[in-house]
Amino acid sequence: MLDHLSYTAPEARVISGATGDWELVIGLEVHAQVASNAKLFSGASTTFGAEPNSNVSFVDAAMPGMLPVINEFCVEQAVRTGLGLKAAINLISAFDRKNYFYPDLPQGYQISQLYHPIVGEGEVIVDMAPGVARRVRIERIHLEQDAGKSIHDMDPALSFVDLNRTGVALMEIVSRPDIRGPEEAAAYVAKLRQIMRYLGTCDGNMQNGNLRADVNVSVCRPGDYERYQASGDHSVLGTRCEIKNMNSLRFIQAAIEHEARRQIAIIEDGGTVVQETRLYDPDRGETRSMRSKEEAHDYRYFPDPDLLPLELDQAWVDDIAAALPELPDEKKARFVTELGLSEYDAGVLTAEVENADFFESVAAGRDGKQAANWVINDLFGRLRKEGLDIGASPVSATQLGGILDLIGSGEISGKMAKDLFEIVWTEGGDPAEIAAARGMKQVTDLGAIEAAVDEIIAANPAQVEKAKANPKLAGWFTGQVLKATGGKANPAAVNQIVGQKLGL
Ligand code: ADP
Ligand code: MG
Repeated sequence: MLDHLSYTAPEARVISGATGDWELVIGLEVHAQVASNAKLFSGASTTFGAEPNSNVSFVDAAMPGMLPVINEFCVEQAVRTGLGLKAAINLISAFDRKNYFYPDLPQGYQISQLYHPIVGEGEVIVDMAPGVARRVRIERIHLEQDAGKSIHDMDPALSFVDLNRTGVALMEIVSRPDIRGPEEAAAYVAKLRQIMRYLGTCDGNMQNGNLRADVNVSVCRPGDYERYQASGDHSVLGTRCEIKNMNSLRFIQAAIEHEARRQIAIIEDGGTVVQETRLYDPDRGETRSMRSKEEAHDYRYFPDPDLLPLELDQAWVDDIAAALPELPDEKKARFVTELGLSEYDAGVLTAEVENADFFESVAAGRDGKQAANWVINDLFGRLRKEGLDIGASPVSATQLGGILDLIGSGEISGKMAKDLFEIVWTEGGDPAEIAAARGMKQVTDLGAIEAAVDEIIAANPAQVEKAKANPKLAGWFTGQVLKATGGKANPAAVNQIVGQKLGL
């Protein structure tokens, strides 16, 4: 396997206060919905947007006497996600009850994994710019049930409950407090999303709430973070606040920015930051208190007596590991080292797995750099202009590859290729057949080019004298020949022959 590209860490975000500089420390708890058709402990469907309370089994509704049965597919996705984050897989994990009352949680507890999570320590490389990346440590991933949804804005007097989401499988991915700025936090969530989309374990749809983050923010003085890293002692860091349930990268950044400034103002005023859970209000651009920090004992966690500990076979885990797809970091490194792409281009091409797949089919057996230029500039550029996803591209990988082959064999010029791309985009069809039918063929027949050059030279004696005195003017002849041949002559060959004939 190829090593990751080498990188240096980005600078921590510094905010200057009245009493000096402050640095940000951020740790995230990301809830990723497992891409599974059925719930974690029941066979009910997970379809988004279904009629309220239509995807609810007796288990989800917590009817008396119902028993949860673990969904093996969800367990496998958590393991795959753990492996994708280079994490340790715990062969024995266990489910605990986290007890609390909420109208959209009919059990009166959430089944989660507090003491023995299924996945242990891992890491994510968060790219900020070519050559600049942060290694963020993952503390754990545990499996847990999602809650339902309370709806308070449909009726002035009543609240409604929709249990469709109740019991859907979530992976909670907990990072160490290694993130040092708002942009990094957003990039971290984006990277998790990218990796899980490559793995197919979470669709990453933030709008639907399938990926959401609780963002922990604290501030400290320069040097404190390094002391924490050296000692592992959290207490040298500032008191953190947790901003709940963020499902937009833009809001995550804005909330962190606001929260850090709020904490700095409190401390500089002589106050102390109180550890609490806060909510971000995007309309006001500020966070407000939701509840004081709850401790584990507030939930009276205990092992769920309805579920046996989860025991995995090492061989099963090994099989899953062996079948993992190539992940973004490895793919990007391979594009750089094997295809000679710039890190920037490799990053663009690997951002979405569908884009990377498309590029790879275009590049297979062809010049990688040329394929990258065409995919990024011509195809992605055009898709962006039209607001289309790669899946809806009118030009397929096979068609684009066909255009590149015509360039590679010298049959068409770069300019003709652009025209051909346009035709394939709007009309479809096989590039080679279109080129043949429309007479798109660059003339590389040197005899024909020579004849055209001779003709132009003979007709323009004054221009010949000028060009001999000033060789820069030879380009005029090249232009005339290209015009005379209807743009079909190979420009490089014309240039060369013009030079010879003028004795330059
Ligand atoms: P708890 O045990 O209270 O749940 P954890 O230590 O598990 O707290 O941390 C929960 C989350 O808060 C983790 O994502 C962690 O990275 C983050 N975190 C912990 N300490 C800080 C801090 N000082 N500043 C910012 N984030 C922090
Ligand atoms: Mg914790």
